[in-house]
Amino acid sequence: MGTIDNLPPLREVIATHGLAAKKSLGQNFLLDLNLTARIARVPGDLTGASVLEIGPGPGGLTRGLLAEGAGRVLAIEKDARCLPALAEVAAAYPGRLEVIGGDALDVDPLAHLSPPIHVVANLPYNVGTELLVRWLTPEVWPPYWSSLTLMFQQEVAERIVAEPGSKAYGRLAVLAQWRAEARIALRLPPDAFTPPPKVHSAVVHLRPLPAPRYPADPEMLSKVVAMAFNQRRKMLRAALKGLGGDVEGLLAAAGIAPTERAERVSIEGFAALARALAARQGG
Ligand code: SAM
Repeated sequence: MGTIDNLPPLREVIATHGLAAKKSLGQNFLLDLNLTARIARVPGDLTGASVLEIGPGPGGLTRGLLAEGAGRVLAIEKDARCLPALAEVAAAYPGRLEVIGGDALDVDPLAHLSPPIHVVANLPYNVGTELLVRWLTPEVWPPYWSSLTLMFQQEVAERIVAEPGSKAYGRLAVLAQWRAEARIALRLPPDAFTPPPKVHSAVVHLRPLPAPRYPADPEMLSKVVAMAFNQRRKMLRAALKGLGGDVEGLLAAAGIAPTERAERVSIEGFAALARALAARQGG
């Protein structure tokens, strides 16, 4: 196993600190430091950059980020058992790693880091999608993050980068691609992790666009997209009944056939629909 610093190999760290993986915390660790360094290179040159890492665990990816030159890493870890191991990483990189013990869903990174911030994480699967949706729906755009480099189950990664007309296309694709560029940067088999998960994984890389691709109110867009894909097999005139009033008129105003199904509507089409809805409501 390659070493990128003077710290012990990760298997030793896990043995020393008794870090048997806990399923309830989504713990599938990356122990190959060459692999974590590869993931840390996905955002580009990190020299001097600020990085937010969620779920550092025993610190493999954290060490990759620091070895790649990150100036400041804020790492939020829920499992208190990992904190002594992470303290050793912090000691090896003085002043560059701050570790917070707690739930990432409750911590405001902006209380600890200043933008621009690269977010890099081998996410716990149970909170990954919720965090992604939060990062994609901030109150102001462009967001505080300058890139997201996130490990997901491959099936979720495919949904983020999916194109209209494909089975994977849905709410996540529209949300992600409306105002960010999203691509799959790396695919990993189960045996890249300890213990191996049941499914393949993939690293998704997202960069925010300075402004949305098509104008729309974010809440209106979220509302129509959620409703449209909630009953994705239905024609839109039926799936969108919950909007009330003249749904066919709204679809016509957006240039979408009432018999169309959600998975064939482009992001541009959904944005037009959100604008038509806003116009109807006098917005
Ligand atoms: N980054 C490490 C690696 O690549 O080997 C660990 C990745 S493991 C898939 C996910 C990590 O997230 C675990 O260390 C787990 O304890 C932590 N975690 C789970 N839920 C969390 C939460 N809500 N907030 C912060 N960390 C969490």
